[in-house]
Amino acid sequence: MIVIRNARILGGEPRDILIANGLISEIGAGLGGDTVIEADGLIALPGLVDLHTHLREPGREDAETVETGTRAAAMGGYTAVHAMANTSPVADTAGVVEQVWRRGQEAGHCDVHPVGAVTSGLEGKHLAELGAMADSQARVRVFSDDGKCVSDAVLMRRALEYVKAFDGVVAQHAQEPRLTEGAQLNEGEVSGRLGLTGWPAVAEEAIIARDCLLAAHVGSRLHVCHVSTAGSVEIIRWAKSKGWNVTAEVTPHHLLLTDSCAESSPVGPYNPIYKVNPPLRTQDDVTALREALADGTIDCVATDHAPHPVEDKETEWAAAAMGMIGLETALSVVQEAMVETGLLDWASVADRMSVRPARIGRLSGQGLPLEVGAPANITLYDPAVRTPVDPTAMVSRSRNTPYEGLTLPGRVVATLLRGRPTVLDGKLA
Ligand SMILES: [Zn+2]
Repeated sequence: MIVIRNARILGGEPRDILIANGLISEIGAGLGGDTVIEADGLIALPGLVDLHTHLREPGREDAETVETGTRAAAMGGYTAVHAMANTSPVADTAGVVEQVWRRGQEAGHCDVHPVGAVTSGLEGKHLAELGAMADSQARVRVFSDDGKCVSDAVLMRRALEYVKAFDGVVAQHAQEPRLTEGAQLNEGEVSGRLGLTGWPAVAEEAIIARDCLLAAHVGSRLHVCHVSTAGSVEIIRWAKSKGWNVTAEVTPHHLLLTDSCAESSPVGPYNPIYKVNPPLRTQDDVTALREALADGTIDCVATDHAPHPVEDKETEWAAAAMGMIGLETALSVVQEAMVETGLLDWASVADRMSVRPARIGRLSGQGLPLEVGAPANITLYDPAVRTPVDPTAMVSRSRNTPYEGLTLPGRVVATLLRGRPTVLDGKLA
């Protein structure tokens, strides 16, 4: 039996948490156990759940593997991640999703829930075997062509209709392809000054509006990946006001960084570390995204952890890969952008980073309140420290963090997966 001593559950008064057989067996004061985890001053949150992780396996094991990516997840306080389907081969069959799911079980650092591709090979031509993936051992409920947009309205409609049979959800990467041909950076003043091809907000907003209407028309569930513009927020707010089944996520980087990073970073302009899809937007967008996450219009934070090897990032802007890693810094960035600004308290952080993403992914046993009888999926977090971000200290196989040198608050001290520590004293257990 493990006892966590003096943890502040959701930031409340200190309590002891007793764990037996993977479950929380008692919460109180002066509890004893065989193993003691001292948690003075630490906040206890339900284990974090990520709806949007790129683990890169199979196919790009030089960037990340299920093993290294789930280690990074545990270090970030996560007890479950959804692994995106844009691998090689694509996760578009029961065979591939079961392979990823099994690798996650073998690694054991956190639960791995494969996302199934919407279309075969992410080619946008034919629906993938959605039913077979749902019925597989991996029990897929989230389907996405992420990295690419399901731009064909008929295919999108069919996918939304199809997933209703097993209470699935289509997670759309909203990017109108014709409007973003060759696009490099948010279309605006900065892209104009830098001479980079603009990536207009309307390319995201047009797809989100269309998909909200399609989801309402067929009575299905839509999830919008990585919302990045103020206009997208307005559309989602409108769809929710209609009672439609639409949910949305925002990434930590879109809550903190703007397109001006591409112009005036500490290391000079055109640093491709800031190249990401969707692109970093303006300060007005950041403000709107923060408000939307606070008022629940945006349901959750998802990392879009996108590891890339050095040679794919450290090249000229136009040739560089899009994406940044984020699992190990997500909670710190959310503290900086949302808690330090007074927009979210810790109970709401738990809601946006654990409860709601687990519900959207239809996970049982994750995202549950820290109560007696619940699975002991617990993150212990020290909000009081501030440390400079050091990429070389990260456990992800890749190093493409945009926060290098930035001083961020907080540190994950321990992560427990069904009562078993995966991280202790800030190190892999
Ligand atoms: Zn995406």
